[in-house]
Amino acid sequence: MRSEISRALTHALDRSEIAAWFQPQIDLLSNRVVAVEALCRWNHPEWGLVGPNVFIPVAEEDGMIGEIGRYMATQAIAVMAKWGIDVSVNVSPAQLQDSAFATWLGRLVQRISHPARRLTLEITEGRHIGNVSAVVARLDRLRAMGLGIAIDDFGAGQASLTQLKRLHATELKIDRALVVDESPTAERTMGTAITVAHDAGIRVVAEGIETPQQLEKVKTMGCDRGQGYLFARPMPPGQIDALLTAP
Ligand code: C2E
Ligand code: MG
Ligand code: MG
Ligand code: MG
Repeated sequence: MRSEISRALTHALDRSEIAAWFQPQIDLLSNRVVAVEALCRWNHPEWGLVGPNVFIPVAEEDGMIGEIGRYMATQAIAVMAKWGIDVSVNVSPAQLQDSAFATWLGRLVQRISHPARRLTLEITEGRHIGNVSAVVARLDRLRAMGLGIAIDDFGAGQASLTQLKRLHATELKIDRALVVDESPTAERTMGTAITVAHDAGIRVVAEGIETPQQLEKVKTMGCDRGQGYLFARPMPPGQIDALLTAP
């Protein structure tokens, strides 16, 4: 199955099977949509919708992530330019192993007339970061150009507060695992993270909010932005247009 996925993925972009979908992020004070996160979708003619958790790792291992990453960043910048909102795009450390991606992105951002800070790169620290210092140096260069850097999936997996400083992050994303966990330990972890982030002037986004109770909790704890099915699911660009045009 893995090799079939890999083979099909090599033509997926050419055949327009890959799309960027977008999920709104809401400012928790104003209740307005202030940003969207780009999420990759693959609609295979026979298999139907294949999730990014399945095909992104294959794309990374088999050298197709560069092309997908450039496509996603291009789509994200188009939405940013059209609506003047903040846009986030997921970038794995594997993508930054290749110096060409960071160089390409840097040039692209310099060419556009919109402020670079509107584009945030969401970094999920995976298991296999090879050359860490090269990746950090590349992120530093993009950061110096004004791009935002988010630490994704805090509270699940490897993300840590140390990375906030190491990567000069501008945003911390609290994973859904922590948002849904009502244990005192989870709430302490979340409280500490929010304090550390805010002390450093870093924005906090809560992910995976599905219920009014979870919304109330993340608001009370001081998160700045929220994202989740309670507000909206990821949607194709046309629906984002409709959402942002609605009065
Ligand atoms: P992520 O960046 O943490 O994205 C959030 C995931 O949570 C998305 O899953 C989103 O659809 C889902 N989600 C949002 N709100 C809710 C909610 O209220 N409840 C629940 N249960 N889930 C919610 P998705 O789209 O399947 O993406 C999974 C992961 O794949 C992403 O996690 C990200 O790490 C990766 N990914 C997606 N697109 C890309 C891409 O273009 N490039 C790279 N490198 N990775 C990507
Ligand atoms: Mg993300
Ligand atoms: Mg996440
Ligand atoms: Mg994730």
